[in-house]
Amino acid sequence: MEILDFEEYCIRLEKLTKLGAKNPDADWNLKLNYSGKDFKCGCGKNHKFVAGVTHILWRRAITSGAMILNDPKCDYACYIEIKGVFTSRLETIYSANTKSAMDEMIKERGG
Ligand SMILES: [Zn+2]
Repeated sequence: MEILDFEEYCIRLEKLTKLGAKNPDADWNLKLNYSGKDFKCGCGKNHKFVAGVTHILWRRAITSGAMILNDPKCDYACYIEIKGVFTSRLETIYSANTKSAMDEMIKERGG
């Protein structure tokens, strides 16, 4: 897993946006198939993907092979690829702390 700074994360996210589903959170099939599976996070912990709890920030539109997940109690956003066919697992490719970057942006604007 690669830890990105917020800027690099945004650049990659921008490239992904075109491939993204309009309602990443609306795929009940995805939730059903992957709920309860662990994924590694940039914060150093493992989080469980829980349908309806874990934020799905982005999901690839064609074939649900990749998504960006955020645990509601964590500040990191994780880009995850689904690996394997019969016993699928969630593999974190990169992760970035989005909370501190957001706070910094607000500070810079004088908020
Ligand atoms: Zn985390």
